[in-house]
Amino acid sequence: MKATAERQANRQELDRQYLDRQDFDRPTLERWMAIVLDELRSGLSEEQSPFAAGVFSRSGDIVAIAHNTVSATNEVSRHGEVNAINAACKKLSTPDLSEYVLVSSGEPCPMCAATALLAKMDVIVYGASSETISDAGYATLGLSCEHFVNISGKTVQLISGICEPECRQLLLANPAG
Ligand SMILES: [Zn+2]
Repeated sequence: MKATAERQANRQELDRQYLDRQDFDRPTLERWMAIVLDELRSGLSEEQSPFAAGVFSRSGDIVAIAHNTVSATNEVSRHGEVNAINAACKKLSTPDLSEYVLVSSGEPCPMCAATALLAKMDVIVYGASSETISDAGYATLGLSCEHFVNISGKTVQLISGICEPECRQLLLANPAG
């Protein structure tokens, strides 16, 4: 019995590793980011800041996608990540997004990183770095996503630099006014 249980546990671990590899290969991440960047351009057409984010299932389904709406709403917390996470929670009728992945055009600020962690997300993917966000004139609060995650003590997989040249170009071409 014990050997069977061990084999099953090993099998589950192998399946998990397999799924991880399947979920997070670069073409998948770039496909997700392309969807996020389409949303970012949609936000630009509405004169919003050049930021967007999406919540995706590990099997690749789009759960929610949103752009920054701070200017449209005059609510300072309306960053793309917060909008996407809140929309995903509402759509799924749960505050627990532990099975989902956050993909953001730019490195999440401390507020957005905190929102992701409060939703129990443990994979955060982003394109442009906070240095680029700062170069474009947007506030970053001086705390990198990695630093924030380290302070939190949570185990979070951070995947940076996905479609970075395109994310950077969109930011620098649309600087803070
Ligand atoms: Zn933010």
